[in-house]
Amino acid sequence: MSTPVRMERDGDVAVLVIDNPPINAGSTEVRQGLLAAVVAVDADPQLSAAVIIGAGKTFIAGSDLKEFGQPLAEPQLPTVISAIEACTKPVVAALHGAALGGGYELALGCDARIAAPGTVVGLPEVTLGIIPGAGGTQRLPRLVGVPKAIELICAGTRVKADAAYRMGMIDAVAEGELRAAAVAHARSLGGAKARVRDRAVPPATEADIEAASQAALRKGKRRPAVQAAIDAIVAAARQPFDQALAHERLVFQELRLTREARALRHQFFAEREAAKQPDLQGIEARAVERIAVIGAGTMGSGIAIAALDAGYRVSLLEQDAAALNRGAERIAAHYEGRVAAGKIRPEAADACRSRLETSLDWATLAAADLVIEAVFEELSVKQTVFRRIDECARPGAVLASNTSYLDLDAIAAATARPQDMIGLHFFSPANVMRLVEVVRGAETAPDALATGLDVAKRMRKMPVVTANAFGFVGNRVYAAYRRQCEFMIEEGAWPEEVDSALEAFGFAMGPFAVADMSGLDIAWRMRQSQAATRDPSARYVAIPDRLCEAGRLGRKTGAGYYRYPPEGKGREVDPAVHDIIVSEREAKGLAPRRLGTEEIQRRALLAMANEAALLLGEGVAQHAGDVDVALVNGYGFPRWEGGVVFWARERGRDALAADLDELARLSGPGFVRGDLTHLFEE
Ligand code: NAD
Repeated sequence: MSTPVRMERDGDVAVLVIDNPPINAGSTEVRQGLLAAVVAVDADPQLSAAVIIGAGKTFIAGSDLKEFGQPLAEPQLPTVISAIEACTKPVVAALHGAALGGGYELALGCDARIAAPGTVVGLPEVTLGIIPGAGGTQRLPRLVGVPKAIELICAGTRVKADAAYRMGMIDAVAEGELRAAAVAHARSLGGAKARVRDRAVPPATEADIEAASQAALRKGKRRPAVQAAIDAIVAAARQPFDQALAHERLVFQELRLTREARALRHQFFAEREAAKQPDLQGIEARAVERIAVIGAGTMGSGIAIAALDAGYRVSLLEQDAAALNRGAERIAAHYEGRVAAGKIRPEAADACRSRLETSLDWATLAAADLVIEAVFEELSVKQTVFRRIDECARPGAVLASNTSYLDLDAIAAATARPQDMIGLHFFSPANVMRLVEVVRGAETAPDALATGLDVAKRMRKMPVVTANAFGFVGNRVYAAYRRQCEFMIEEGAWPEEVDSALEAFGFAMGPFAVADMSGLDIAWRMRQSQAATRDPSARYVAIPDRLCEAGRLGRKTGAGYYRYPPEGKGREVDPAVHDIIVSEREAKGLAPRRLGTEEIQRRALLAMANEAALLLGEGVAQHAGDVDVALVNGYGFPRWEGGVVFWARERGRDALAADLDELARLSGPGFVRGDLTHLFEE
């Protein structure tokens, strides 16, 4: 069997080339190959040093995460690193592309690190629910100090070469060719070892360590891996190297098998899978440089910012001058705020703003490669807008709607080019939320869809492809969840009990607090428009209607499911809401009962899992994991719980089926059971 590591020679320097496409993942074979090569270097009297370098686009971009769920095969990474440290000749890591996780830990085990400009290095393990397990928590503090190591490791920060050099994470940014620079550096060491483990940890005050720890815990939502990483890093300064190293490995081994780590790996793979479209292989996206955004409201201005940030030229088009001004002001205020907060350099903000033009003239559409419509959510309005777009846009431009619920094909039918039409469903705030549903209409051409995915990726979004169906993936699942929560308040739970149960599960906000934030009137109008076609025998909770009729439209009116006094600190439980709920229960003859936290969480999740099964059965979502990607990136579902499909699989198929029988009984008429087959297909 050929090994993915080969040894080449450059005079007295061995060059160990890792060749394990596509990303040189640190697999068992790579580790075996490296170990054998390092031993060979040590034994060869003709060699005085070695360089480790990656073939292709990158160094070891990360470990092979598939291995993390199983017993780890020998040699494990610490063994390889020990061999490098024990080797009597210096070993230089030559980094390009990405050196992350195990890749960067390997580099830390070397005697020097040289990187090509643009390389990213870092230890993102904590974002996968584990800690670096091959010395990362011990060696990085020796280079950057304990407080900085806490900051970098707990956030899983990916650091670009120039910043990494300034911090000491690497020894040099290569000028000229990387391999030659690394070989020259190896030779310049004159045979002397310079192991990171032999360096002292730079001194830091207790106060600095404590401040870094508290900040990391806050940012990392106090997840177990964050605390474990802090403890391991602090131990680097307090314990002998080998003792702290052994402890780090033990903690890594424990964490990698926890439910949380498995959930995070599931989400990681689901995100990778979501971006892959087998039927788009070999299809080239259309080139996009200029994007026209129509509608400068909440969504239009957010989408414009996301596009500007990604380097596109943007024309923002409106029907009304005042709305256009408000949109332009919102965008200007956004960049001013970012500059003031030190998040972006003033020149970078200016560059973004200089790529924006605002206009009331539809002729500006002619220059756009992609047109994104974000006007009012009304089919007739959107159809009128797309008729105009069809007149003005150049042939071959991709046309996109940001509609949340409308029929994409009905919108596309207003144009003579439905093949160019896609949905690009952004979430609010569009410049912040990562999820974008890329909707495939009945006549969407593959390269139009590929363009949507491409643009979403360039905007650093997380695209999920969905078919054209009411609510697409995310809003369908969310609606089922919210409906179930409404059932529960009808049956006896208070909104605040439901919200706190789901916040305890890890949702950023409970469903009723979310409803208050987005406003109850949009859903109210939708229910009114659907009233004539609704199945009259299906269970219908009228509590939200009663709230709206009482003028309680959510935060914007100071009251919804909660009250929001102007002088108060946020939501407050409102007895008036309890009265409305009680009278609705009485009107239906329902005897209230107490629902515990566990039941509330279980029912809410079951309702989502059931809807996910329905979506998969209907072919609206393609992979089960797509539902989880949508929930985590667009709906505040806790990433560390993996998503509802992960949750359902953990529960097991038989238990889930029994649970759903019970949920169907509790939910009453109108509840549609999904077929679980697709939910359990990996
Ligand atoms: P908004 O009311 O804030 O903005 C809509 C803008 O479109 C207004 O400024 C209006 O002047 C402009 N407009 C209306 N008709 C126009 C026309 N004929 N030509 C040019 N401009 C026109 O609405 P929004 O919240 O930004 O929503 C826009 C779209 O995005 C809707 O389809 C909505 O369903 C969807 N959406 C909204 C959210 C959200 O949370 N707000 C999330 C996802 C998707």
